[in-house]
Amino acid sequence: MENWNIHDAEKLYRINDWGNGYFHISETGEVEVRLKDKSPQSSISLLSIAKGLQERGLKLPVLLRFSNILDDRIQHINESFLHAIQDAGYQGTYRGVYPIKVNQQQQVVEEICKYGQQYHHGLETGSKAELIIALAHIDDPEAYIICNGYKDEEYIDLALKGLQLGINTVLVVEMPGEVGIILQRSRALGIKPNIGLRMKPSTMASGHWTDSGGDRSVFGLNTTQVIQVVDRLRKENMLDCLKLLHYHLGSQIPNIHDIRVGATEAARFYAGLVQEGAPMGLLDIGGGLAIDYDGSHSNSPNSRNYTTKEYCDDVVEEIMTICKEEKISHPTIISESGRALVSYYSVLLMNILDTNVFWDGKNGEEVVYDQMLMPALENLLYVRTMLNEKNAQECLNDLNYYREEIRNKFLYGKVNMRERAAAEHVYWSIVAEIQQKYGDIHAAEIQKLEHQLSDIYYGNFSLFQSLPDVWAIDQLFPIMPIHRLETKPDRKAVLSDITCDSEGKIDKFITAKGVSDTLALHTPKEDEDYILGVFLVGAYQETLGDLHNLLGDTNVVSITYEDGNFSLHNELEGDTVADVLSYVEYEPKRLETMIRTKAEKAVQEGRITVQERRRIISAYTAGLRGYTYYETDQEE
Ligand SMILES: *Cc1c(COP(=O)(O)O)cnc(C)c1O
Repeated sequence: MENWNIHDAEKLYRINDWGNGYFHISETGEVEVRLKDKSPQSSISLLSIAKGLQERGLKLPVLLRFSNILDDRIQHINESFLHAIQDAGYQGTYRGVYPIKVNQQQQVVEEICKYGQQYHHGLETGSKAELIIALAHIDDPEAYIICNGYKDEEYIDLALKGLQLGINTVLVVEMPGEVGIILQRSRALGIKPNIGLRMKPSTMASGHWTDSGGDRSVFGLNTTQVIQVVDRLRKENMLDCLKLLHYHLGSQIPNIHDIRVGATEAARFYAGLVQEGAPMGLLDIGGGLAIDYDGSHSNSPNSRNYTTKEYCDDVVEEIMTICKEEKISHPTIISESGRALVSYYSVLLMNILDTNVFWDGKNGEEVVYDQMLMPALENLLYVRTMLNEKNAQECLNDLNYYREEIRNKFLYGKVNMRERAAAEHVYWSIVAEIQQKYGDIHAAEIQKLEHQLSDIYYGNFSLFQSLPDVWAIDQLFPIMPIHRLETKPDRKAVLSDITCDSEGKIDKFITAKGVSDTLALHTPKEDEDYILGVFLVGAYQETLGDLHNLLGDTNVVSITYEDGNFSLHNELEGDTVADVLSYVEYEPKRLETMIRTKAEKAVQEGRITVQERRRIISAYTAGLRGYTYYETDQEE
């Protein structure tokens, strides 16, 4: 047995690089989440949570939410800005707003408003529905509601009436046409609006989600349109309502350089608006603050090459420099970070249901002893005798050639099924030998062998429901076992979900070597669940998901640490089969009636007894009430 300890596991899965102090491996080899002040007492093992839930009857897969982490993130972002402002001697202040679309769950919005109160943290809305949420949740006259998105009369009226309630709404003009409606509605209601302008930054940031920048971005005003809006407001005597300039470069901006350039351009526009005579006062730098998903601290799309502190320092510095040059006073800085606030908040736990072991590690000798099969195997076995480091690639080519030959002979009836099976078996045993002995040598096809020989682990989850960005845009999330980390993982695998869709698989993983197409995992034990965690899934994943194969929402539970105690709350049962069927317009009651009728007919025709009918119906209705995911221990 090779030496292996938890520090090897830390390196392999890079947990200390992406965990940001929230996730780590315990001495006993379990992943723990640290919930408060990053103090050891507030750490709890994810496995113990999973076991506790199972004892309470809540099954895997389950989404865990950690409210303390939200609390910590809000504090972190606000304090980082406040420190940057203090250190630089900046005269303005900072106000964060949380973009509801990043995670719209009631609990998230409620917790952000609660924990954010001391910092006057507000909300950003992109639609009427989100504004309706925001108006109910914001109580603080110093917090802002930034109203973005396409706006009709109703949206505008709601924002204006919010002002009457003492809530600071700002209507951000995204399209030139909106100005007319805003002016008209504010006259009709006799309420003076706070108006903001969204500019199109010419800065095009790199990254996955950065179409919000550049000339062709769908939202925002170009320079000509900005001037037109200013002229119109002045003509209508409403220029005194223009308070805010907004821009958004996109989400997950990996490179700090883009953030600096964006802030500089926006500060020049801001100064231009002040010089036009608008009162202004607010500069809203949008979102973009990235998460280091792969732990590389680089400018790759799944990472970022800066810290929150650097982000805040740089933004404050750029704005301050321009204000000095333009001789204008310092605006309140607003930012709309969502991803950076909620990503760490949720973890998806799933159990492994089955594994498909592609290569069992045997060397093929058991078939070789059968002399009858020898003629079909001769060429392949000869290759094995020739194999050495120098000719590994050549041997692989020969193996492929001889396997092809056997397959052709099979097509013409010259080789039978048993011979073909033996040949395939020997072929893979030699390929595995090449991979094991020479897997590290520099030849593209040999490097690919690890992936070709890897196992498939079937996880109890739906990629489409729970991790839509993995499917849609190949986003990487950290994935690793949450236990047994004191022992060395002995298998290499890719992960498949249970949708039976070839797209429902994950074969890009964050590992010590960088991005790898296999993940090191343990052989599951007979009598114990093998549980994997998918981390940093708090942003964007929950409501983008769909009902592929009618797998619904997973069970959800929140865990909080307070005064030395952990508590479970906000337990939400995932969708039942009846729930997901009704989403696609089936009526569970009617389905039940259809089965009852069918079973009654079978009784009438003497095919089943009435007792059997009762059992069939009760199995059917239990199925309707059940979880859409694979249930391992059947109760009742
Ligand atoms: C989506 C969005 C955000 C959130 O940005 P993140 O970088 O993902 O936090 C902020 N502002 C606007 C206008 C958005 O559309």
